[in-house]
Amino acid sequence: MEKVLITGITGFVGSHLAEYLLDKNFEVYGTVRWRSSLDNIKNIKDNLKLIDADLRDSHSTQKMIKEVMPDYIFHLAAQSFVPTSWHAPQETFVTNVIGTINLFEAIRNSNIDPKIQVAGSSEEYGMVYENELPITEEKPLRPLSPYAVSKVAQDKLSYQYNKSYGLKIVVTRAFNHTGPRRGEPFVTSNFAKQIAEIENGKREPVINVGNLAAKRDFTDVRDIVKAYYLSLQKCDFGEAYNICSKKTRTIQSILDILLGMSTAKINVRTDPTRLRPSDVEVLLGDCSKFKKKTGWKPIIPIDKTLNDLLDYWREKV
Ligand code: NDP
Repeated sequence: MEKVLITGITGFVGSHLAEYLLDKNFEVYGTVRWRSSLDNIKNIKDNLKLIDADLRDSHSTQKMIKEVMPDYIFHLAAQSFVPTSWHAPQETFVTNVIGTINLFEAIRNSNIDPKIQVAGSSEEYGMVYENELPITEEKPLRPLSPYAVSKVAQDKLSYQYNKSYGLKIVVTRAFNHTGPRRGEPFVTSNFAKQIAEIENGKREPVINVGNLAAKRDFTDVRDIVKAYYLSLQKCDFGEAYNICSKKTRTIQSILDILLGMSTAKINVRTDPTRLRPSDVEVLLGDCSKFKKKTGWKPIIPIDKTLNDLLDYWREKV
């Protein structure tokens, strides 16, 4: 059996990717930290091999790589929440950038030659002008948050380690994805959770929102993890690939779909604390480069994604 290592297996994407790879008969390893919640992987954890590792610590990362000796690595571990990066820019950098260096150096120091996917982000494009849409991989990277800058650094380190040392790295620049188990602070999940709490009487019938005008390109996480798998089967090392739906939706329209799925009567209130210092107004991707290489296309409709997310929260609250 081929060995796959997922850094960040306890996270939203990592848990879905683990399920997908178990179905494909890989031996699936994943990093955990002593305080990691195993909630997202509770149904599959007996089939996984979980290894203690904190990527901020080079010794811990080195030991983990020597223990697993993976054939494939999906590097998802990150401080992944944009607003947190405003409050904790240094921690965001240490986890996302130093953590990536520690991982690459651990691979170089072990006698292995794995294929490595690095989870970049559409946030790397940041400031995008109307005439630059949809965004292709050649567009300038003008990051607008400490998180986005850290993802640019990861992306460039991947390029450099490929060119300098021949590491077999593919960078994916995924646009927004969502679905069941999406972290609570993220907008789609946050709305769904508030609705579920209102439905069962845990909260007054008012939903708090931030910038509803922002436009985002959403894909279901279950389509995204298939794309991540394909990236290591079919893409060129040293290259970056957009992964997206090529459709934009306002956050308002996401809210409307979710509200339409509930029978509760809910008022909407703007909460100024939910507005970011500099928000990216429009993110619309062009993933022709990835589609051409892999034949991938997203198939799960947004209504199903949001319905499954709302049901997830109904069960959880
Ligand atoms: P989550 O925040 O849900 O998960 C992050 C994971 O990283 C957790 O498993 C966490 O472990 C782990 N982690 C954090 N710090 C460390 C560390 N120092 N050492 C080891 N593990 C650590 O993120 P997502 O699943 O949503 O995202 C996965 C990746 O995809 C991230 O790199 C993110 O930036 C990127 N991405 C996500 C997008 C999205 O829309 N979801 C869009 C584009 C890119 P623990 O449980 O211990 O906290």
